[in-house]
Amino acid sequence: MVIIMLGAQGTGKGTIAGIISEQTNFPQISTGDIFRKNISEKTELGVEAEQYIAKGELVPDEITVPMVVNRLNQEDAKNGAILDGFPRTTAQAEKLDEILTNLGKKVDLVINLSTPKEELIDRMLTRRVCSNQDCKTTYNIKLNPPKVEGICDKCGAELKQREDDSNAEAINRRLEIYEQQTSPLVEYYDKKGVLRTETVSTSINRMGKDVAEDIVKDIKNSSIKGDEI
Ligand code: AMP
Repeated sequence: MVIIMLGAQGTGKGTIAGIISEQTNFPQISTGDIFRKNISEKTELGVEAEQYIAKGELVPDEITVPMVVNRLNQEDAKNGAILDGFPRTTAQAEKLDEILTNLGKKVDLVINLSTPKEELIDRMLTRRVCSNQDCKTTYNIKLNPPKVEGICDKCGAELKQREDDSNAEAINRRLEIYEQQTSPLVEYYDKKGVLRTETVSTSINRMGKDVAEDIVKDIKNSSIKGDEI
């Protein structure tokens, strides 16, 4: 079963993908996380990608697409995956359809998260991420704080703010790119009949974990039919 997380930055795609992944064993494939790991390890791919990420720009497809193909071909993704952060443009979505067809798969479910813009900016500014690249647990100092300030509950490593979350210019650029280039994917997947839109907002007291729980329940009840679950 292939699931795509769609939604602007700060809607909680990563948190929700993480919960679904734990419950279903489909790996969470986050392009942003793969880039950040490569940046911290100073690999060639990381050095190349960093210049775009720091400014809030998209990393070019020549770098991003082969990285996703490579990840989808790994053994743990054999039965499916949760794509978090890819595709982000119609061109990437078309490319993904091609890649999945070659693997004998298709997009089964697109979870489209919607959150009011004022909340998004606040969530990005208050997001903290575990600096241990093998853990990467995400917190929010207002909505989901760690037990001890600045320390990851799960592994004890230091929590950090993402560079592109601390920079107002990068935040605005990312939201602008989302509106212009990523939001057309809502219609793209709606037409394919695989879109499920969920509002995540403190104003209706519906948070990411509520959405994740409902989706996991539906997957397990097979109301969303996966071949392998
Ligand atoms: P994220 O963690 O998903 O917010 O991604 C962080 C940054 O990584 C983005 O702002 C982009 O610079 C880059 N990035 C992540 N996914 C993609 C993608 N599918 N295409 C291009 N750039 C990406």
